[in-house]
Amino acid sequence: LQLVQLSVRLHPYGEGRRLMLSRDVTQLEQAEAMRRDFVANVSHEIRTPLTVLAGFVETLQTLPLADDERSRYLGLMAQQARRMQLLVQDLLTLSRLEGSAPPGTGQWTSVGALLQRCEQEARALSAQITPPAAAPQRLVFPPPAQLQACGEIAGNPEELHSALSNLIANAVRYTPAGGLITVDWQCQDDGGARFCVRDSGPGIAPEHLPRLAERFYRIDRSRSRDSGGTGLGLAIAKHSLQRHGAQLHIASVLGQGSAFSAHFPAQRVRAAGVSAQPQPH
Ligand code: ADP
Repeated sequence: LQLVQLSVRLHPYGEGRRLMLSRDVTQLEQAEAMRRDFVANVSHEIRTPLTVLAGFVETLQTLPLADDERSRYLGLMAQQARRMQLLVQDLLTLSRLEGSAPPGTGQWTSVGALLQRCEQEARALSAQITPPAAAPQRLVFPPPAQLQACGEIAGNPEELHSALSNLIANAVRYTPAGGLITVDWQCQDDGGARFCVRDSGPGIAPEHLPRLAERFYRIDRSRSRDSGGTGLGLAIAKHSLQRHGAQLHIASVLGQGSAFSAHFPAQRVRAAGVSAQPQPH
């Protein structure tokens, strides 16, 4: 609570009066602290790969290297550059989400097409991160017939895609080789629909759950980096979902796995075969 003292002279010859005003600055201070943390985190996330890149450039400039060593260093440099690209991309996505009005219900996207795109990406990611000798992950998506019956969802297709694909990518990245990832989309009795991705990964201890979707909140920083994360995936997913009337729910049992789900309200869900209704402007 901030107290502001004002001295007010009510009459030119009269006594000065004191007026005490109070205002709650807790929220302002919290917002300012969060902004400071965010800037510090972004700077740190950019500085680390930049330092590695600069180090390799210097090595390449100064040391006579064999061709295979040179190409190994170039590969590592490309990895760091890619990491920075992903970070900048996620930062831009977040700032777009914050700086624009939530999408209306004028544009409808096929749930089948959306999940098919997510499936292709998830399978490619899984193949890319699974070591050659390890057992492949099992990825289970709704079969095509069920996808066709899933209907459509209203909103911004790219935002919806980034929400679902971030949650699915996390399930793939944090689940060990041979693990199971199941993606589901169910129409609900209330006319809405529920998306859910479950994994048989490490699970998340209850104390982390409330803060998990904060920007740059990670349980294990080095593991997150190794798995190619920017630390912004859940923040983007939560924000995109909220803009579509859906809350992100996280349920997890340590050592057994996690489930990330969201319920879309009836006004954003259209069953398959329902023709387009004119939308009010
Ligand atoms: P990151 O890029 O670090 O993955 P996210 O915002 O996507 O950032 O996730 C935040 C943190 O939540 C991760 O660092 C990880 O610790 C945890 N997490 C997210 N998804 C899962 C999951 N499916 N299983 C276990 N932990 C997860």
